[in-house]
Amino acid sequence: LKKPNIVILGAGYGGMITATRLTKQIGHDANITLVNKHDYHYQTTWLHEPAAGTLSPERTRMPINSVLDLNKIKFVKDEVQEIKREEKKVVLSNGELEYDYLVVGLGSEAETFGVPGVHEHAFSKWTVNGAREVKEHIEYMFAKYNNSPEKKDELLTVIVAGAGFTGIEFIGELSERVPELCAHYDIPREKVKLYVIEAAPTALPGFDPELVEYAMNLLESRGVEFKINCPIKEVTETGVSLANGDEIKASTIVWATGVRGSSIIEKSGFEAMRGRVKVEPDLRAPGHEDIFIIGDCALLINEEINRPYPPTAQIAMQMAEVCASNIKSLMTGGSLKTFTPDIKGTVASLGGKEAIGVVGSRKLFGTSANFMKKMIDNRYLFLLGGPGLVLKRGKNPM
Ligand code: FAD
Ligand code: NAD
Repeated sequence: LKKPNIVILGAGYGGMITATRLTKQIGHDANITLVNKHDYHYQTTWLHEPAAGTLSPERTRMPINSVLDLNKIKFVKDEVQEIKREEKKVVLSNGELEYDYLVVGLGSEAETFGVPGVHEHAFSKWTVNGAREVKEHIEYMFAKYNNSPEKKDELLTVIVAGAGFTGIEFIGELSERVPELCAHYDIPREKVKLYVIEAAPTALPGFDPELVEYAMNLLESRGVEFKINCPIKEVTETGVSLANGDEIKASTIVWATGVRGSSIIEKSGFEAMRGRVKVEPDLRAPGHEDIFIIGDCALLINEEINRPYPPTAQIAMQMAEVCASNIKSLMTGGSLKTFTPDIKGTVASLGGKEAIGVVGSRKLFGTSANFMKKMIDNRYLFLLGGPGLVLKRGKNPM
C-alpha cells in the first residue's frame, strides 16, 4: 500500500508543532515533509528584542534538525512559490512536491493598508534578518550623527508606526536600550526622539484601559512620545506624513500596523480576506478535503463578537494540535475534531523587567507580568521540545 504524502509548509509556530505531533502520532505510516525557506526555526514572538538590540538574534532561532527527528520527517529547505490545488502539488523555487494532505503554515506579511512608501522606506519584516537590519540601521544612524557636519536630528529619530502589541513591545525594548546607545555613541540623551504613531483613538485598541495607561506612562517616562488618533498617510525617504497634514522627519521608521496572511495564499487562488482563508471548523480550506490552513494564514471568527480572532502564536499552536490529530483521523478513519481557541490571556513586554498582561481574569503589571511573559516564552519551548529545550534555550524568568 502506498504511504500518503503529508506536506507541511512553513516551520513557524503552526508548522513546527504540527510536525512534532505528526511524527509522534503517525511515525513511519506516512511520508512527512516539512518545507521552510531557512534551515532554522525562529520564534517570531521574541523578535522585538533582537530588532532593538537587547537580545542576540541567535537566541531567537534554532536549527530545525536540532528539534525534529529527521528519521521520521524529511526537511526541505526551499521557498514555496505556489500551491497548485487541482494538481495536488506545491511549486518550490527549486522543484515540486506532491501531496495527499497539505498543511499551510506560512505565517504573515506586513499590512500597509495601501499607505504608499512602506516597502521602500520603512522596516516591516518581523523575521530574523529583518530584526538584524533594524538593529544595525539604528546603530549606524547613531554612529553617523557625530560624523555628519550638520548633525541632523532626524538621524536620532525613530518612528514606530502602530501602537499594537508589536509596536509597543519594540519601543519598550528600544527605549530601555537608548541610554546605553547614547553612552556608546557619545550622544546627548535629549537629542534622541522616539515616536509611536497610532491611527486609533487609543494605544493597544481593545486592551484593558488601566494596563494601556500603565504602559503609556512607563514608556513616556523613558522619553517615548505618543501621537494617538493620528493615521500615517505616507512614508517617504525623509520621514512620514500624517493625515492631519503634519510631517515628521526620521531616519528610522519601523512598521507595525498589523499583518495579512502570506501572499502565497492569494497567489494560489484561495478565497481569502487580507491573505487569510476563512477555515472550516476542522481547519480545512472550504471545498478542500486535503488542505489544512493554520496560524496567521487562517481566519477564524469569534462568534461572540462577530470579529476575527487576532493572529497569534497562541492560536497557531493550538490549531497545530487539532490539525495533526485531524490528519491522523483522515488516515485512520476516525472523526475530525472541531477547533475552538482556548485564549489563556495576553502578556506584552515593555523592556527591562516591565510588562503588562491579562491572564484569565487577573491583571498583571511590572515584574509579575514580566515573569509571566518569560514563562509563556518558555512554555512554547516546552511544548516544542520538552524540558531539555527549555533548559538549553529558555529565558530566566527572574
Ligand atoms: P510564523 O511563526 O510566522 O512562521 C511562518 C514560517 O513560514 C516561517 O518560518 C517563515 O520563514 C516560513 N515561510 C514564510 N513564507 C515562506 C515561503 N514562501 N516558503 C517557505 N517558507 C516560508 N503572538 C502571541 O500569541 N504572543 C505573543 O507574545 C506574540 N508576540 C509577537 C511579537 C512580535 C514582535 C510579532 C511580530 C508577533 C508576535 N505574535 C505574538 C504573533 C505571532 O508571532 C504570530 O501569530 C505567529 O508567529 C504565527 O505563527 P505561524 O505559524 O502562522 O507563522
Ligand atoms: P495590530 O493589528 O494588533 O496593531 C496595529 C496597530 O496599528 C493598530 O492599533 C492600528 O490602529 C494601527 N494602525 C493601522 N494603520 C495605521 C496607520 N496608517 N497609521 C498609524 N497607525 C496605524 O498589529 P500588531 O501589533 O502587528 O500585532 C499583530 C498580531 O500579533 C496581533 O494579533 C497581536 O495580538 C499579535 N501580537 C501579540 C503580542 C503579545 O501577545 N505580546 C505581541 C505582538 C503581536
